[in-house]
Formats: sequence, C-alpha cells, structure tokens
Amino acid sequence: MTIDARKIRLIMALRRSGVTDTKVLAAIERIPREMFVPASFLDQAWEDTALPIDLGQTISQPLVVALMTQALEVTDRHRVLEVGTGSGYQAAVLSRLCRRLYSIERLRPLLSEAEKRFHALRLHNITTRHGDGTRGWPEAAPFHRIMVTAAGGLEPPKDLTEQLAVGGVMVIPLAAGNYGDQRVVRIRRTDHGFDREDLWPVRFVPLLSDTPPDDAPRADPA
Ligand code: SAH
Repeated sequence: MTIDARKIRLIMALRRSGVTDTKVLAAIERIPREMFVPASFLDQAWEDTALPIDLGQTISQPLVVALMTQALEVTDRHRVLEVGTGSGYQAAVLSRLCRRLYSIERLRPLLSEAEKRFHALRLHNITTRHGDGTRGWPEAAPFHRIMVTAAGGLEPPKDLTEQLAVGGVMVIPLAAGNYGDQRVVRIRRTDHGFDREDLWPVRFVPLLSDTPPDDAPRADPA
C-alpha cells in the first residue's frame, strides 16, 4: 500500500472514532508522521498505533493525538504550550492550528531531533526549550492553551494552571485511582477558578519533575 493510501485509511479510522474537527484531520493529514518515527518502524508510520522512540519514550497513537488536539479547541489566534516534545509530532500537528507553539522537553537528545524535523518541515512558529516543563514557561505566559503529553499525578502542576489564561483550556493525562490508571482531563480556567472534565482513559509515559543531571543546561560550544 502507498503512503497516500495508508494516510487515507488512517484519516477514515480517526473519523469513525469520533474525530470530527476537519481542521484537526487536515493537520494530521499534512504532517508526515513517517518523519517522526524511527527508521525501523517506517512501515507502521500511518498505522493507528503508538511507537517507541529513543530513550524509552513513545510517539503517541494518532487517535490519541487527534482526540487530545480536538479537545484542546485551538484556533489560529492562540499561543499554545506543549509539555513533552518527544518526537515533535504532536507539536507539529498543533503548530498547524495555532499562532505560536512553545514546546518543552527534558531529554536534550530528543529535543535536538525534534528541532531538526521542525526546521526541515519549515514549522517556523514553534519555539522549543530544554528543561522541566512542569515549571511551564513563565516568560511566554499566559497561554491560551496548554497540552501535556506525559502523565501527571492526581492534580495538574501548579505552575501550569497559573500560566493558563482566564478562559484558557488545558488538556493533560492525570492519574485516576490506584492502579496506575490514567485519564485525559480537560481543565478550563474561568473568572472564579477551574472547571474539570474527565475525558477518556489513556497510557502515557510519566511526567518527571526534573531535568536529568547528565543532561543539565550547559553553554553551547558555538
Ligand atoms: N508529544 C510527544 C510524546 C512524547 S512522550 C510526541 O508527539 O512524540 C512524553 C515526553 O515527555 C517524553 O519525551 C518525556 O521525556 C517528556 N517529559 C516527561 N516529563 C517531562 C517534563 N517534566 N518536562 C518536559 N518533558 C517531559
């Protein structure tokens, strides 16, 4: 099967599974997922499945990317923060829908690869940072939208809720119950506080609140 045929099959499967936002579907169709997966998984790039990337992390399943993007209700006026760049795939999809996308990753080697992909795809509205995304990005706050693509604890990180604009929306997988269960949660900031909706169960790698010591910020050799 050609890449185009696989792509169409995936888009149809996403529609059947409840992805109705045509802008989200168009963004998924336009971002070449084959550029974000390891070479050994190229043949599965347009399958609806999560795949391993380096350093024990994963590129999310397309359905999860599509549903979380749809749940975020992004428009082209929004400044959006993503925590957990990983392969850069979710960031690339979001960047097609928003005005500016800020993305933070704690593992520098993953971030470097993602940055190369953004450059090759001319996704010039993405700004990246290496570090602990649970602290957010105070200099660029407030954000209209925040998406976290690693699983937090029972509550969203306080710095992130503080950096959400009033009227803003955050989508984040959080722990649910005792057995390592996770749910995607949507949080809306209102004039008087935060409204929370539980969406669906998921499995994400953990959100870790640190930056690895052997990967600490260092001066650029240039
Ligand atoms: N959005 C990614 C999914 C990556 S998996 C994609 O589309 O490919 C989750 C990522 O979150 C991993 O790369 C992991 O290193 C990163 N991560 C975990 N905790 C983090 C933190 N506190 N700050 C920034 N990134 C974090």
